[in-house]
Amino acid sequence: MMSLPRLFLALLLLIAAPALAASPPEPFAIAGHGVAPGTRADFRIPVPSGSDGATFIPVTVINGRQPGPVLAVVAGVHGFEFASILAAERLAERVDPARLTGTLVLVRVANIPGFEGRSPNVNPVDRKNLNRVFPGHPGGTQTERIADLIAREVVARSDFLMDVHSGDGAEFLDAFVGVYGGPLATDFPLALKVAQAFRFPNIVRYSMESREQIDRGRSLNRQGVAMGKPTILVEIGQNGSREEAHVAAIVAGVEGALTVLGMSPAPLPEPKAKPARLFEGTVSVSAGHTGVFHPVDATPRPLKKGERLGTIRDYTGREVERLVSPVDGYALYGITGPPVEAGDSVVTIALPTEAF
Ligand SMILES: [Zn+2]
Repeated sequence: MMSLPRLFLALLLLIAAPALAASPPEPFAIAGHGVAPGTRADFRIPVPSGSDGATFIPVTVINGRQPGPVLAVVAGVHGFEFASILAAERLAERVDPARLTGTLVLVRVANIPGFEGRSPNVNPVDRKNLNRVFPGHPGGTQTERIADLIAREVVARSDFLMDVHSGDGAEFLDAFVGVYGGPLATDFPLALKVAQAFRFPNIVRYSMESREQIDRGRSLNRQGVAMGKPTILVEIGQNGSREEAHVAAIVAGVEGALTVLGMSPAPLPEPKAKPARLFEGTVSVSAGHTGVFHPVDATPRPLKKGERLGTIRDYTGREVERLVSPVDGYALYGITGPPVEAGDSVVTIALPTEAF
């Protein structure tokens, strides 16, 4: 038979249980901020001063009334890729915390020094490419300190990572979504569904087979893979453009992704008649010389093995290199030139596949 104090305790637990179940959800904690359910917050993650000066990362968190997945959308890793930055600004205005399930973390501009300095590819402060230095380092140069904070404060707190880019200055590009798959990636089927919600004309699977592949010159995407997050790369626009159609396509894609992830009650738009072209990875053609690049055609297009891509001349006008495609494929993005540095990827060729 139960003793009286034990009976009292059991009754107390019975009475307390419904009250515990009804307790309001916790605020979303990020970078020292707590964002209450059903609210939004705009703040800066300070990047402390090292040997090369302080900066910040502007972030908007929209925390839904109902708990659910955390989607991180990162714009402006390259500060000259403007479509992503304008799309993040618009999403911050459009997504309503009252109608959202889960949490949307928007990094409005990951690379503020690159953005304010109108600098393609690199942060002008330390000349490093933010998309090659993950996981970063708190005691490193400015770009490495930015990467460290994005990894720890944003990627680590997310359930799904979306990194949004464009063709940078002097780059051509056809809109595509890159989806991380293979044995070292997490939940490729979910990432593919989210990618399809963008309705972009091209989808590339990046198959993660080895640690080396994830670690060498680690991008933000590969940081997501390393941290076990389903990850996609979104690419639209070229030459540092700010076209409205590209901004709108990113916004629509992220809103579709919110539906796929169960974060929004809005229905998915009707699929286009034409499904996306599918590609299994890419091959890059690198320049062997620095100088003046003359592409045959600086647009996305199908390529045949052996087809001429362009020539590089030195500063006397002498031809020093002739570049050809090593494979049959599709020129997905590349540089328009004229500047080219030895080691630059001149064209990235996607390899067609029938299905994943
Ligand atoms: Zn980029």
